[in-house]
Amino acid sequence: MKPRIAIFFTGGTISMSINPTMGGAAPALSGEEIVARVEGLRNIADFDILNFARLPGPHVTPAIMLELAQAVNAELLKPHVDGVVITHGTDTLEETAYFLDLVLQSEKPVVFVGAMRNSSELSWDGPANLMAAVRVAASTEARELGVVVAMSEKIIAANEVTKTHTESVDTFQSRDFGALGLIDKDRVLIARRPTEREHIATDHLESRVETLKMVSGGDGKFVDFAIAQGTRGIVLEGFGRGNIPPAYVPAVERAAQIGIPIVLTSRCPRGRVLDTYAYDGAGKTLTNRGVILGGVLPSHKVRIKLMLALGAGYDLAQIRQSFED
Ligand code: ASP
Repeated sequence: MKPRIAIFFTGGTISMSINPTMGGAAPALSGEEIVARVEGLRNIADFDILNFARLPGPHVTPAIMLELAQAVNAELLKPHVDGVVITHGTDTLEETAYFLDLVLQSEKPVVFVGAMRNSSELSWDGPANLMAAVRVAASTEARELGVVVAMSEKIIAANEVTKTHTESVDTFQSRDFGALGLIDKDRVLIARRPTEREHIATDHLESRVETLKMVSGGDGKFVDFAIAQGTRGIVLEGFGRGNIPPAYVPAVERAAQIGIPIVLTSRCPRGRVLDTYAYDGAGKTLTNRGVILGGVLPSHKVRIKLMLALGAGYDLAQIRQSFED
């Protein structure tokens, strides 16, 4: 008996072709049309094709991610479904994958996949990537890994994966820890487990969370603006080990004093934030004011996690524990 895989099609370049009227690539293909163009796919598994959406990655919102998570969960609960594949625009794929990794709890494989070339291009990587993703979703080796991304023959954990290149097909990387495994022809090879995963049990998210990127010479006016707009959480993308310009500090202090959770991340593409430095604006002056350290996560993933933690009703202590322990 072949495994049964539910494939959610959400859009992205994997579903795109050049639209001459629009003058560029745009979503065009249905799930059935994509599957029909992947020779041999039906030899690996039987499919339930779910045309969830036809969105480019930048159109996907956290509210849509929540809807998708609930639909995927419903499939995972069906005893005859062995795994799930989700096609997605690569621009925001890592946010949706991480979102689902936080909220889903299943030992069955959940595999995100996309393409960097559209179906009008000679080198459309959609079919090969989809074939590889289905192999992962159908394999017993990929169970209990949480949500993963399968692209260009690599399997990468959702909490670690980042799009690193604007156009290379080998764009997805786990920059700090490396891939979990490989897809080599018909073999799925798993070398290690993902780094610390976490589960946030919630059906809600708090959308009023802002992300602010630090620049040299910047000040706290956008922090004050966020406070005035009623923000419920702030993510600071700081410099290096986790430092910000001193002119931000008074506004950060104002936000902390009214109980807004503030999580610090780094502009650096690799490494963890820590309160190593103690000068004005440095990590120590921020943690002394209640700022939470975001670990190795980039700011856009911290935002997703903070939205879910707040949606789940976590208080400040629970949010701190979730990021720092
Ligand atoms: N801009 C596209 C998107 O995210 C890129 C892709 O899918 O590769 O929809």
